[in-house]
Amino acid sequence: MKSVEPEVFLVARPELDYAEVARYLSDVGGESWLERLDRGDLDAELNDPQNLAEFAGRLCYRSWEPGLNPNVSRVRTDQTQYLENILRSLHGSVLEHVNFSFVLHNVSRVLTHELVRHRPGVAISQESLRFVRLQDIPFWFPEWAREDQELMKRATALLEQMEEFQGWMAGHFGLDEEGVPFSVKKHHTSFMRRFAPEGVATGLVWTANVRTLRHTIEARTAAGAEEEIRLLFGRIGELMRQEAPALFSDYVVEDGAWVPGWRKV
Ligand SMILES: Cc1cc2nc3c(=O)[nH]c(=O)nc-3n(C[C@H](O)[C@H](O)[C@H](O)COP(=O)(O)OP(=O)(O)OC[C@H]3O[C@@H](n4cnc5c(N)ncnc54)[C@H](O)[C@@H]3O)c2cc1C
Repeated sequence: MKSVEPEVFLVARPELDYAEVARYLSDVGGESWLERLDRGDLDAELNDPQNLAEFAGRLCYRSWEPGLNPNVSRVRTDQTQYLENILRSLHGSVLEHVNFSFVLHNVSRVLTHELVRHRPGVAISQESLRFVRLQDIPFWFPEWAREDQELMKRATALLEQMEEFQGWMAGHFGLDEEGVPFSVKKHHTSFMRRFAPEGVATGLVWTANVRTLRHTIEARTAAGAEEEIRLLFGRIGELMRQEAPALFSDYVVEDGAWVPGWRKV
């Protein structure tokens, strides 16, 4: 049994191609928006996630500057205020352009089973335990469990027995013998994983857009949510607040629960 900690790695974030943005803006007469970015008038001039959301929002109303659309006589020039208005007016579809990719490492199948219930706006690539054979059983114990000696003694013994059984099965099925076809290995490996606990730690790449992230952070840090997923989404919330403060600044964190100012944006 290998004792592990769930971890979050933020491995990808949006990047704007400003030359292409400029080329488009010159065609619609919106260069002043980019010039404002260049001059650093906006709070988050180099914040590509926020710039992308703002870009998508402004394209909708051609609100790069007053007058381009005769119906628009003034525009907000402060990005934080602009994005706050997007959130307030529940114009969440523009947030769908802004995607982040995470590796969720050493998370249990309890967690992944709950995570995949969140459907729109996500992409998932999960470690295959049909392909990847369990040699040890990585397992996370929350702090309160680690402090309970009798619990740890019994839990560790149980996990070690499961681990030993995995090894026994691999030998029994002859999986490491010369010439065993991969299809046979896969077939047996899939059978063997049935004898791993739901708490076995595994991993996945999880990509989500900001609209989904906002909803998921709220749902999965709620007081009633499961403790491992709560812990993980608390960390994701912190990361998002650093990455795109204007898109996550409306949250109030109370006892680990992230409560947004505007729900279901
Ligand atoms: C604390 C907690 C306890 C839970 N307990 C249980 C439980 O006991 N049993 C259980 O089965 N599940 C449980 N769940 C899972 C829960 O029921 C949801 O399936 C999960 O949280 C996904 O959230 P969502 O329904 O908002 O959908 P998401 O997939 O996250 O979608 C986001 C939003 O998009 C819209 N949407 C998505 N798909 C559709 C659709 N097909 N039709 C219309 N609108 C759509 C909805 O507005 C939805 O809220 C629990 C979740 C939490 C947070």
